[in-house]
Amino acid sequence: MEDKPARRRLVLVPASAQGHISPMMQLAKALHLKGFSITIAQTKFNYFNPSDDFTDFQFITIPESLPESDFENLRPVLFLLKLNKECQASFKDCLGQLLLQQSNEISGVIYDEYMYFAGAVAKEFNLPNVIFSTTNATAFVCRSVFEELNANNVLAPLKDSKGKQDELVPGLHPLRIKDLPTSKIASLDKILELYKNTVDKGTASSVIINTSSCLESSSLSWLQQEGLDIPVYPIGPLHMVASTSTSLFEENKSCIEWLNKQKQDSVIFVSLGSLALIDINEAIETALGLDNSNQHFLWVIRPGSIRGSEWIEHLPEEFSKMVSGRGYVVKWAPQKEVLAHPAVGGFWSHCGWNSTLESIGEGVPMICRPFSADQNVNARYLECVWRIGIQVEGELDRGVVERAVKRLMVEEEGDEMRKRAVSLKEKLRASVRSGGSSHNSLEEFVHFMSTL
Ligand code: UDP
Repeated sequence: MEDKPARRRLVLVPASAQGHISPMMQLAKALHLKGFSITIAQTKFNYFNPSDDFTDFQFITIPESLPESDFENLRPVLFLLKLNKECQASFKDCLGQLLLQQSNEISGVIYDEYMYFAGAVAKEFNLPNVIFSTTNATAFVCRSVFEELNANNVLAPLKDSKGKQDELVPGLHPLRIKDLPTSKIASLDKILELYKNTVDKGTASSVIINTSSCLESSSLSWLQQEGLDIPVYPIGPLHMVASTSTSLFEENKSCIEWLNKQKQDSVIFVSLGSLALIDINEAIETALGLDNSNQHFLWVIRPGSIRGSEWIEHLPEEFSKMVSGRGYVVKWAPQKEVLAHPAVGGFWSHCGWNSTLESIGEGVPMICRPFSADQNVNARYLECVWRIGIQVEGELDRGVVERAVKRLMVEEEGDEMRKRAVSLKEKLRASVRSGGSSHNSLEEFVHFMSTL
């Protein structure tokens, strides 16, 4: 029999943000458990410092000369366009070196859809490469048809704030024009440029997606049959497949002790992920609305997430009074543990895909306040497809916050959503168990990668 190296190596290239690093590290862990050696090639931006969970992994840094400030100043779309241009040559050097050191070991490159330079480099070395979509399948579909929608003038209302953004997008029911993955801080041209690259399959042999067919079967079928024409593996939610510590920030675990003192389903957890920014007025109105709702709340306020403030120093004095009564505020929480806590009955969220999966995975219904990109898509699906979310649109004032919180936490409508969320949680859990659809997809993907 031919001698094969015991472990084959995969080079994984995560994008530089918490919401992308976590699923990539979960994937790394899952593939390592399946017998692959893993190299993580990351940039200096939001550098993931490996915990003890990753002692067996190789970490390399892709050198580039972008200023540290670019990440914050350019914001995601322009930053990613620049990073991809900047990294192509240096990643080629990195991969060239790796191949010199371990040429027969490396069996492929798996890259985040937003790090498409890695696909171009893998092609130059004739290495098998795989796109990893850390957002959901429906957002991938939207990005795939974005150019066509633009050519057909469907995106015109997005260019004009008075346009008819409430109209349904043809072929993408139930998404409205305003639910499409766009951003208010980048021009449509730049968004189009970025999306075109993220969905360009190049020489990729397959696409893996951090989703489950029980959530997005029709989007997955479209990608498989029409959009991509290469195998698509829905293998998520990965946090349920390989649990590991992937936080870039220090988690304040004292909130778990506070939750331990609260009644079942009595707390609304408020967290807007790792990137979203709010104005001070929105923070104040949220605080007042939470207070007026008479519900207990655990609120993550990330340092720097309120524009113009280091943390909460510019919030009025009443804020501390409100918080000391019914609330608890931390800078960063162990979110998965929080959502799994019996005291948490609802999640006020920006609807990032990880937060969405983590909430559904614990059967927690949501109040959806999306900011940009795929968050809009997720919020619409939470409200209209899975029916476990209440979307809060338009300007935020204390009345709107109070009303949404009461609907979710106190009223029958919220109870119904909680029941549906629990049933969806069971389906998700079944999909990652032996014989489930995501479990089988991961097995097929591993087999596919082992035979390359
Ligand atoms: N998160 C966390 N603690 C917090 C806030 C967020 O651990 O206090 C994690 C959360 O569990 C999720 C990730 O940060 O895994 C955020 O990713 P998501 O896709 O939801 O949003 P993004 O940060 O990309 O906007």
